[in-house]
Amino acid sequence: MSSNSKYIFVTGGVTSSLGKGIIAASLGKLLQARGFSVTIQKFDPYINIDPGTLNPYEHGECYVTDDGAETDLDLGHYERFLNVPTSQANNVTTGRIYNNVITKERKGEYLGKTVQVIPHITDEIKRNILLLGESGQYDFIITEIGGSVGDIESLPFVEAVRQVRWDMGANNVVVIHLTLIPYLKAAKELKTKPTQHSVKELLQAGIQPDILVCRTEWPLPLELRKKLALFCNVHLNSVIEAMDADTIYDVPLLMKKEKLDERVLSKLKVTSKQEPDLVQWKEFLGKLKNPVEEVNIGLVGKYVSLPDAYKSIAEAFIHAGAQNDCKVTLQWISSEDINKETVASMLGRLDAVLVAPGFGERGLEGKIEAIRYVRENKIPFLGICLGMQCAVVEFARHVLHLPEASTTELNPKTKHPVIDMMEEQKKITTKGGTMRLGAYACKLKKGSRAHAIYGDSTIQERHRHRYEFNNKYLEQMEEKGLKATGINPDSGLVEIVELKDHPWFVGVQYHPELKSTVLNPHPLFVKFVEAALASKKSKPQA
Ligand code: GLN
Repeated sequence: MSSNSKYIFVTGGVTSSLGKGIIAASLGKLLQARGFSVTIQKFDPYINIDPGTLNPYEHGECYVTDDGAETDLDLGHYERFLNVPTSQANNVTTGRIYNNVITKERKGEYLGKTVQVIPHITDEIKRNILLLGESGQYDFIITEIGGSVGDIESLPFVEAVRQVRWDMGANNVVVIHLTLIPYLKAAKELKTKPTQHSVKELLQAGIQPDILVCRTEWPLPLELRKKLALFCNVHLNSVIEAMDADTIYDVPLLMKKEKLDERVLSKLKVTSKQEPDLVQWKEFLGKLKNPVEEVNIGLVGKYVSLPDAYKSIAEAFIHAGAQNDCKVTLQWISSEDINKETVASMLGRLDAVLVAPGFGERGLEGKIEAIRYVRENKIPFLGICLGMQCAVVEFARHVLHLPEASTTELNPKTKHPVIDMMEEQKKITTKGGTMRLGAYACKLKKGSRAHAIYGDSTIQERHRHRYEFNNKYLEQMEEKGLKATGINPDSGLVEIVELKDHPWFVGVQYHPELKSTVLNPHPLFVKFVEAALASKKSKPQA
């Protein structure tokens, strides 16, 4: 193994949902702020090849990278914190590992050997763990192991971590274990036992964690830290407190206060040339916490009962709000509840409305009705992917007077398929990884709103969809005022539509939310929040 990169593993114990992704991203941020190059990868123990086929209710949003990988939503946190793009190599599942091994086996690459979890599956996991390091581009590679230690399905990953540490030596690998210190109200006590058990579980697998990061609702008293250190064989200064934070963006600062980065550097025998430079990060936090204005924006979608399904959109609003010194309050609205009777009472008081991406016919008519309302009532509108497609259908039905117009996703037999499946897509029968995925170029028309927003004439944005604007209807649409202002230069596909004679009406076939970061809030979201503010101010005071 000839990599100069240092490896940091983040495992989790006691329960899931402790925020390993945020801890990994925060540590990454601190190391990056010291001038190191860092990437973060996630290994997920489930058997799906990728989360692309998972229902958002199961697993939250599917995050798409530039290279078209459908990945875990934690990669979104990595990008938002570090401001560097991730790729397929940053997210690997058990399914992908087995798929690779079985493909090799079928090719005869194991030369007649019995193929087994150890060493073949673990070797494939190790190969993938070390892949990003081979470029020599990174000082640190942080690897988050999904799930909790002790789960049957995480065992091969934990074993691979043990082997990597053995192969590379303690100076090159550090293991951080994230755990929960529950507070028992009746006893008025913080409890260390679950942590002791989960560290024992790791020890049984041959791994002594170097650092414990302890999620807690209350500060950890010194006595308790001492107890944890003693029972879990870690240094007292390697018991790190991770208190619940107001916002995930506080966590890098909390980790800095607890010296997590210093502990990691000292374990890996790395000297840092500088203290973390967090000036811009703190500026962002200052704006986020001291808004001058507030707007109410409706998020109309199908999966609103699980906000994780729209994680990147919610985060993009946080970035864009801070940029505008404005608190964005999102009103989550189920599109299934919207119809002609309810629409005015549901959307009438909002400062702007976003119609979200999605799949399938459920709630689609509600989205179309919502768009009719915001178009007619001049409420700022941003439609993303399915949201843009619904805007096109709505315009065709009510302005072009084609009442039967639809997307073939809703009605495959429609007389006017203004949104239709691409020819290449029609031949595809399998589901995973078969959509138009990843970054595509888009040329913006001079003089358009989109051009002014981006301040550029060619952009790259990420896609995840099967259906497209049907160019047969382009001329009619443009004549009546719905302009195609962003076009894919290679395929001629419409990527952006905007409405003339409306204060702010933009639909995009791609997902701008995936590229918004703390340091680079996405211009579409920034301008949309600005439009919401303007709309609020133009209303007569109640
Ligand atoms: N269901 C639509 C399509 O496949 C939109 C997808 C999306 O919103 N991401 O084209």
